[in-house]
Amino acid sequence: MFLVDSHCHLDGLDYQTLHHSVDDVLAKAAARDVNFFLAVATTLPGYTAMRELIGQRENVAFSCGVHPLNQDEEYDPETLRELAAHEGVVALGETGLDYFYTPETKERQQQSFRHHIRIGRELNKPVIVHTRDAREDTLSILREEKVTDCGGVLHCFTEDRETAGKLLDMGFYISFSGIVTFRNAEQLRDAARYVPLDRLLVETDSPYLAPVPHRGKENQPAYVRDVAEYMAVLKGVSVDELAAATTENFATLFHIDPSRLQKS
Ligand SMILES: [Zn+2]
Ligand SMILES: [Zn+2]
Repeated sequence: MFLVDSHCHLDGLDYQTLHHSVDDVLAKAAARDVNFFLAVATTLPGYTAMRELIGQRENVAFSCGVHPLNQDEEYDPETLRELAAHEGVVALGETGLDYFYTPETKERQQQSFRHHIRIGRELNKPVIVHTRDAREDTLSILREEKVTDCGGVLHCFTEDRETAGKLLDMGFYISFSGIVTFRNAEQLRDAARYVPLDRLLVETDSPYLAPVPHRGKENQPAYVRDVAEYMAVLKGVSVDELAAATTENFATLFHIDPSRLQKS
């Protein structure tokens, strides 16, 4: 089996007490058949530091972007464009809108979101979208900026079936995290059953949101195995089938050579 953690913040894990190094984290993941990782940036200096921390690896790809919660400081879209053009960067993001935590930066978030999509279209790299309490604005900006040209994924999906349908209509992929395993997430499970297998991704969003049975602990890429096992039951397929489908979807969306997504 070959699983991909399609969204993790490898630079945010606890390297003081829980893990010795990035190698250690990736080895723990490999022990559970999690063999490829998309390391997601949340600020531009963070992107640069993250690449230094992780280095060049056959089994790690990167995204570059400024998270909607990090819009208190301005950044230069030209710098974003230059960094996002780097080799090894397969996506723009994470970007999107979060009106729950930082409604005061609403306008800046929208502007930044639009920049990410425009650069994604220019570079032919998909966008990784975060949305919270901002469903309508997220959908309209995706439409207005013609996101279908570059494609993308709504990561850590927590919306309903109807919203999933609108995103699927735009050609989007939908990624589920450990939240789908939480006891009170029935609406989310309903959406997960609805999303077709050929548009599904799984992620940890580690270090946040550890799935059951690790809830409350720091999350790590190894735990995407728990998300995949849970999703397989929801979809009524074997975990091998779910792993194969989500790995293939990952390769398609992020234009990653499928030979990198096989056990060597
Ligand atoms: Zn997010
Ligand atoms: Zn994230």
